[in-house]
Amino acid sequence: MVVGRFAPSPTGPLHFGSLVAAVASYCDAKSRHGQWLLRIEDVDQTRCLPNVSDDIISTLQRFGFEWDAEIIYQSQRTDLYAQALSQLRQQGLAYPCTCSRKEIADSSTLQGIEGILYPGTCLVQPVKPGTAAAWRIKTDAQTIQFHDRIQGVQQHQMRRDIGDFVIQRADGLFSYQLAVAVDDALQGIMHVVRGADLLHSTTRQIYLQQQLGFPTPTYAHIGLVRNAQGQKLSKQTLAAALPSDNLVSTLRSAFDFLPQLPNPTPALQSMPALWQWAIESWQLH
Ligand SMILES: [Zn+2]
Repeated sequence: MVVGRFAPSPTGPLHFGSLVAAVASYCDAKSRHGQWLLRIEDVDQTRCLPNVSDDIISTLQRFGFEWDAEIIYQSQRTDLYAQALSQLRQQGLAYPCTCSRKEIADSSTLQGIEGILYPGTCLVQPVKPGTAAAWRIKTDAQTIQFHDRIQGVQQHQMRRDIGDFVIQRADGLFSYQLAVAVDDALQGIMHVVRGADLLHSTTRQIYLQQQLGFPTPTYAHIGLVRNAQGQKLSKQTLAAALPSDNLVSTLRSAFDFLPQLPNPTPALQSMPALWQWAIESWQLH
């Protein structure tokens, strides 16, 4: 059984780029008679805005999405993430870190895929007493490789490209990477289709799956929607919320954007007809 998912963060209303990602994961699961789940990624409560989750859910409903199980909220699953952390600690794979951002910047000259690499300071010297500690996972010299269904072969050497990364922040919040690895496994998600902005997160999630004994899904990262300035549509670039009218033409535009779909014929003007056409026409190149 194909089980796919859409997992928005409620840091702002859905915009056109998120609609495109939702459409892609939906068509991919439904075209293979699979299930599609909705997960609200509100693990970082400091970034989530009140009522935005409900707004996202009603927007998806307006566009005709149907999910096949109860919606899950990461904010209600911290016990599961804590269990994963405690398993990693028992395996000797996690260690506390009291370094500040500045201390890391001052003590490391190594660059990874997301900026300065953590040099492993707290692995070799005792953490500062009385300072709240983050938890990091140890990385080693292994290369994590996967075949993305759209972007092709991707790989990172964990220690050189990623470094020991945070799985629980010093303020107690679990990291996005840990939450996603746990949730995808526990929800039985084996087919991840999402935006290419998350392509670089995938090796970290696979690394965590391997350490936790979870299976690895297949991945497809779809091209990003950009604005006229070439920036990715996001809350940071102030992408507009999806309109609450003109639903059919907005949905058609999302279909138009995806190279995995041919251009919808003008005859398709109702939401159910458009969805049926899209699910039958979907092909991942
Ligand atoms: Zn440290």
